[in-house]
Amino acid sequence: MAKIGFIGLGNMGGPMASNLIKAGHDVTVFDLSEELMDAAVADGASKADTAAGVLNGAEFVVSMLPNGNIVKDLYIHKDALLDQMDSSTLVIDSSTIASEDAVEVHQAAAAKGIAMIDAPVSGGVGAAKAGKLAFICGGVAGDVEKARPVLEQMGKAAFHAGESGAGQIAKICNNMLLAVHMIGTAEALQMGVNAGLDPKVMTEIMTASSGRNWSLDTYNPYPGVQDGVPAGNDYQGGFLVKLMSKDLGLAEAAADKFSARTPMGDLARELYRQHGEAGFEDRDFSSILKMLQQ
Ligand code: NAD
Repeated sequence: MAKIGFIGLGNMGGPMASNLIKAGHDVTVFDLSEELMDAAVADGASKADTAAGVLNGAEFVVSMLPNGNIVKDLYIHKDALLDQMDSSTLVIDSSTIASEDAVEVHQAAAAKGIAMIDAPVSGGVGAAKAGKLAFICGGVAGDVEKARPVLEQMGKAAFHAGESGAGQIAKICNNMLLAVHMIGTAEALQMGVNAGLDPKVMTEIMTASSGRNWSLDTYNPYPGVQDGVPAGNDYQGGFLVKLMSKDLGLAEAAADKFSARTPMGDLARELYRQHGEAGFEDRDFSSILKMLQQ
């Protein structure tokens, strides 16, 4: 079993760390929230007082943080973990950040002889809890293989998308598509409801038809259709609107950089921006249904 440092115990990182502990690893955690660290300690983790405190002989450091600036502060600038890390440590950053930021951290790590992969995840909080995430990795193939046994204890699959940063590109392509099909699913369900149809029956019909998609059959935005999704809990927890907006900003920047036309992605970004401004920033992204009910 490995010695693992885990940084960022939020909606996703908390259950991911918990699955590593359950798998028998020796996990030391750090988060800005004492409460979240205490929850991890109750699961069997050790708690560090600072980010650098997780390093202590760690073979792997996993980070699950909100954005690229925080990740760069952690590894390069403020906490400068790369300056304090043993070169045998493998860094796995699972945060969703710009591919440029991932490459910057990768290069800073490589300059110190430290291996790093970007390994953002697909799957929501439910998949994180169930250990069924999909990791989308960028980096050197050998490093991805070295990380695989650890990733597979938090997920069902680990893909190698390409070199450093490629995991982040594949991830935001996926999330741009996710935003588009969530909005489309909410639109279709609400139109049916406005016409007097039952959203459960609509879901059953479209799940068996060509409109079938993940937002419909696994993460339904209409309250009361499915159990265990944020729609059934006033859109609390899950994947926050502000994080989806961040991802759509990353997608738009990548579209500009690679000269890709993404009109649906651009529209999704604008709708999520308006939805966040309307007070839904800290609600799950399936709450976009509320915008369509007004
Ligand atoms: P979250 O806001 O719930 O958790 C982030 C955690 O990081 C918080 O607990 C916060 O205290 C901690 N943190 C922030 N700065 C820190 C620092 N400097 N040092 C230590 N801890 C720090 O976010 P989340 O939903 O867990 O998402 C994390 C990442 O995963 C994001 O990049 C997000 O885009 C991505 N993601 C989220 C989902 C989802 O469904 N929530 C799905 C896929 C990917």
